[in-house]
Amino acid sequence: MSGSTPSVVVVGGGPAGAAAGVFTARYGLDTTVFDRGSSSLRRAAFIENYLGFPAGIDPETFYDLAHDHAREAGCAVVDDMVTGVFETDGGFRVETQDDRSLDADYVVAATKYDWEYLDSLPADFVEDGEYEQFDASIVEQDGGTPLDGLYVAGPNAGVADQALIAAGHGAQVGRAIIADVRRADGYEGTFAEHYDWLRREENLTGEWATRERWQEYLDNAPDAPDDEELRERYIDDRFAKYVDAEEREERTQKAHRRLADHLDLGEETTD
Ligand SMILES: Cc1cc2nc3c(=O)[nH]c(=O)nc-3n(C[C@H](O)[C@H](O)[C@H](O)COP(=O)(O)OP(=O)(O)OC[C@H]3O[C@@H](n4cnc5c(N)ncnc54)[C@H](O)[C@@H]3O)c2cc1C
Repeated sequence: MSGSTPSVVVVGGGPAGAAAGVFTARYGLDTTVFDRGSSSLRRAAFIENYLGFPAGIDPETFYDLAHDHAREAGCAVVDDMVTGVFETDGGFRVETQDDRSLDADYVVAATKYDWEYLDSLPADFVEDGEYEQFDASIVEQDGGTPLDGLYVAGPNAGVADQALIAAGHGAQVGRAIIADVRRADGYEGTFAEHYDWLRREENLTGEWATRERWQEYLDNAPDAPDDEELRERYIDDRFAKYVDAEEREERTQKAHRRLADHLDLGEETTD
């Protein structure tokens, strides 16, 4: 790893890449999303099948929301095009059109129409055939590839070609990277899985509201870490996930304001 905080470069800030970035940045990984160049979703006239938008959404507003979300989660979202990804000792170097050069422990290729920037890597990502196509058969279900640390998200990984599905797969790739990081930290089996959930504080009751119960659970769980620091961190994480009613209300108000910031309601609205 290149530093104490693992770093992730996401190539492409469409639905697949932005979703991957939201997950890795929320876990605390140093995440940069580069977004410039040929986009599938920007070609759409209007998006009517992405969950949560009852009357659909125009691609530009969708992109603004997705990038705002990625930034809020902690990503740097950079308007630049990745031109090359190269292997280094234990990671990757990423180069861009505007002469940026960045080291990364993980790279997520989330660009439906572009894969030339992978050409220098020791794997063949192009399918033989009349038309040049990305070879989805070398990508695992969680986006993993034959190269450790290189993931592919979205339709090039073989998932169906809709924005919502691409975003879901991007999230899956984000989770796979987090599991890699947790395994490198010493967690094994199910303890390497990270659940990006918040829970209601009023449900923090009974025996599971005590650290002693969690210690007992860890004593008996087959994959649980032996290391005391990892065990304490695991329990801290569990308790950090609870949100009280007042904080939920504050978060709700903030979330509504942030959504409204993106809406141009024009002169009149009609039902
Ligand atoms: C005409 C058309 C209409 C469509 N309509 C719908 C629809 O209504 N509903 C639906 O669900 N799906 C629709 N789709 C499909 C949808 O666009 C894709 O399934 C989805 O966008 C795939 O997401 P993605 O993030 O993998 O790729 P993209 O949406 O293509 O996003 C990739 C991003 O990467 C960026 N990029 C590319 N190369 C680089 C690089 N080298 N460096 C940095 N950034 C780079 C691009 O600018 C782009 O923003 C439509 C597609 C088309 C072509």
